[in-house]
Amino acid sequence: MVQTLTVGDRPASDVVAHYDAIIIGAGVSGLYQLHRLRQLGLNVRVFESGSDVGGTWYWNRYPGARFDSESWSYGFAFSEELLQEWNWREHFSAQPDTLAYIEYAADKFDFRRDVSFNHLLTAAHWNEEQRRWMLTFDNGDRYSATIFIPALGPLSAFVMPAIEGVGSFEGPAYHTARWPKEPVDFSDKRVGIIGTGATAIQAITEIAKTVKHLTVFQRNPNWAAPLHNSVITEEEQKDIKARYPEIYQRCRETLTCFIHNPDPRKALEVSAEEREAFWEQRYSEPGFGIWVGNFADVLIDKRANKLLSDFMEKKIRARVKDQAIADKLIPKNHGFGTRRVPLESGYFEVYNQDNVLLVDINETPIERITPKGIQTTEKEHEFDLIIYATGFDGVTGPYDRIDIRGPNGRSLKEDWAEGLPRTFLGVQAEGFPNMIMVLGPHTARGNIPRNSEQIIDFNTGLIKYMFDNNLTRVEPRPEAVAEWGVHVEEAAAPLLSSQVKSWQTGVNRNVAGRDVLRVLGYNGSAVKYRRIGEQVAVGGYQEFIWD
Ligand code: NAP
Repeated sequence: MVQTLTVGDRPASDVVAHYDAIIIGAGVSGLYQLHRLRQLGLNVRVFESGSDVGGTWYWNRYPGARFDSESWSYGFAFSEELLQEWNWREHFSAQPDTLAYIEYAADKFDFRRDVSFNHLLTAAHWNEEQRRWMLTFDNGDRYSATIFIPALGPLSAFVMPAIEGVGSFEGPAYHTARWPKEPVDFSDKRVGIIGTGATAIQAITEIAKTVKHLTVFQRNPNWAAPLHNSVITEEEQKDIKARYPEIYQRCRETLTCFIHNPDPRKALEVSAEEREAFWEQRYSEPGFGIWVGNFADVLIDKRANKLLSDFMEKKIRARVKDQAIADKLIPKNHGFGTRRVPLESGYFEVYNQDNVLLVDINETPIERITPKGIQTTEKEHEFDLIIYATGFDGVTGPYDRIDIRGPNGRSLKEDWAEGLPRTFLGVQAEGFPNMIMVLGPHTARGNIPRNSEQIIDFNTGLIKYMFDNNLTRVEPRPEAVAEWGVHVEEAAAPLLSSQVKSWQTGVNRNVAGRDVLRVLGYNGSAVKYRRIGEQVAVGGYQEFIWD
């Protein structure tokens, strides 16, 4: 059959240029993938919708945005020189510093030379005859590539709330993922914020420091634990720089690529005193230890999880003066750690302030956004500024927003509309040749740059194999996809989090069709994920169909 050489109604001949590989996204992942493909000597180009590098850290400029990962475990690990040159200011870096770091790396390695900014990808169509992807951008530009690498980020498709009247508010209104570059002064403003996820918890805490009045609209409360951030002293800086190999080795050995790993003991097998003492210790330590460095059973055994949740409930109650408000802040529909745990720096105390009001929208639902504010069933709350901290259509959402079509017009969005996305290792979708994903569904997740480094290293090996062997087409074998799907489901089954609605399980009440629990990550650990990838590479990539 003769394949048509058109994309939409335009001929394939009007592409501006052809590349060996096109990467979409100039965040930490896209830039590291660029670095690796440059090393292979490929003709590669990155397209980025923002006006500069940074990805997540470019877009999420909301007040209070900062790492929940230890800064020194987060960066690019490929350059010892960069590691030694860069001084992280804080153990958990604030967004401006993180963005400055990525910009510094971009300068140092001249990444921008290979990036086209202000290019939002709208369509990617496979052309079977030419064995290449035809990419169309929002400005009408079209490029083709042998390999198409979406490095979109699992949390880039931000979502506005499905509430009547959004857009009718007369004052400024910002989604946290599209925060303006100019500073916002809150001191003379009545501010309303919708959402109480990790983003909102950071933003609320920061905004409450200066705001005239803040109203928080909460649907589901989230468990949150103290971040315990601090400035890195000169002594610590020296120590960190000396220990980078050790730090990164540690990240390679943990289940989630953080420096924290579960304790081998079980909460249900130690005495109440031992349990309490351990939790007190974890609660007083910086970072995610309380979540991913806890007893081995707390995220899989309901009884253990209940004990931990009770412990966290006591902490909230001790920090919030009004117990009726504390009641509202304590999650009832999920246990601690079964959704991504926000880390906070004084969040609960915010509700002790006279100028902060918590509105539980289960009691008084929001009816609509009005020109003056937010109308609940109780009253109209008037604001000068509204903030939507309403999150993202996670993992598959960024793919859904691009018209991705494989052979014979096969639509990725339709393929992934229901149930489990069909992938092999999360790096290739079944039936989509030469599309090689970074942090697609069913890859291990945790400390993102470390996770994406593993994926990119695997992808780079795969691409090298292809070019070394003069191959022009790669897609995963259906049997490998099926086997991987079964493994992904089995790995998710024991986790309590698999039964809880969140972006991690693909649920988003603002997006049509996103109301069913799905397995979107690989939960068999980052270590296992890396080992499987290494075995596939050593075995000569037999899980793929080559041509
Ligand atoms: P999120 O966790 O999905 O939270 C969104 C919030 O908005 C939830 O409280 C949600 O309520 C609420 N919401 C959404 N639609 C609503 C509606 N129509 N009406 C009322 N409330 C609504 O999103 P996020 O806080 O942006 O965080 C997403 C992820 O980003 C995090 O889990 C984390 O992985 C990442 N993140 C990382 C950092 C960091 O590393 N420092 C910081 C921030 C975020 P329901 O819960 O009821 O749906």
